Amino acid sequence: MRTNFKHVPLTLISLLFTSSILLTGCKKEENIEPVDNGENNTSSPATPDLSHLPFGGIHPSNILIKNQGNGQPDSLSLWLCGLPADGAGNSDASDWTNPDGSWDYNLKPQVGGNVYWNSQFNVSLDSNGNRVITGNALPSHPTGVFPITPGSAAYKYDGNPNIISEHEILYTFPAMPQEAAQPSCLPFGPSGISLSGSAIYHGSSTLGNDAAAHEMLDRFGGHTDGTERYHYHFPAQDLQDHIHVHTTGHSALMGYMLDGFGIYGPYGENGELLTSKDLDECHGHKHPVLWDGVMVDLYHYHWTYDFPYNIGCFKGTP
Ligand SMILES: [Zn+2]
Ligand SMILES: [Zn+2]
Repeated sequence: MRTNFKHVPLTLISLLFTSSILLTGCKKEENIEPVDNGENNTSSPATPDLSHLPFGGIHPSNILIKNQGNGQPDSLSLWLCGLPADGAGNSDASDWTNPDGSWDYNLKPQVGGNVYWNSQFNVSLDSNGNRVITGNALPSHPTGVFPITPGSAAYKYDGNPNIISEHEILYTFPAMPQEAAQPSCLPFGPSGISLSGSAIYHGSSTLGNDAAAHEMLDRFGGHTDGTERYHYHFPAQDLQDHIHVHTTGHSALMGYMLDGFGIYGPYGENGELLTSKDLDECHGHKHPVLWDGVMVDLYHYHWTYDFPYNIGCFKGTP
């Protein structure tokens, strides 16, 4: 070895020496990086336990209704303006309710099928500082079969007879929304628009129970209603992955609520799984977040796996 080394030309030795410095340099940078963002550790990513989810509802009182005397929103709650007199849907979740009173997403039947739609959806910023969203409200992914097929597992609980049809979407929001002096209550119908092209509804059914825990949804966490509008109640993995596959750090944007603030997936700044306890009375919080390609210290909502799932009240002005 020593004799061989002697005959190695000087230029090659210097080249080897230089590249070893370069390699050392690279290694050093890799070692520094995890200290910088704190999210590159090797611990397993936070995964949700979908077998024990807390029920929402008027009982146990985390659905507050303004026109029935609940004048303020509250943390861990959904603040509705009112309940329709002619509510419909499933009210029996006993077959996927655990002995401890929680519900099991994995035991609840799903609406099967893969029906494809011709989705149109566009988000743009105009010259007046507005975000303009247009589309036809159809999702850019397949849905389950609606009306729910008689005889299917889901039909036993929820005979949802409604079809999915097109609806013209035209939303104009401030590109940089502001928090209102007071939050406001949520009406029924769309609370937001998902980047998949369809509506996001809040977590209550028209009966005043936890829609995600009672109504029969497809694998994307969506279904349709009497207005024939396909919409989401739950951040199903297929919906999240369809919009953006999460790897590390804060979740990506999943849509816009009707006050113009964004709604992101269920992961927080350090890649941790968020629950409603981590969020305020409107189911959001404020920290620097990616917004139109730049980091902005801005209020935003999060989808979580626990009630109220997406929004508790409007923090801005709808
Ligand atoms: Zn619904
Ligand atoms: Zn966040």
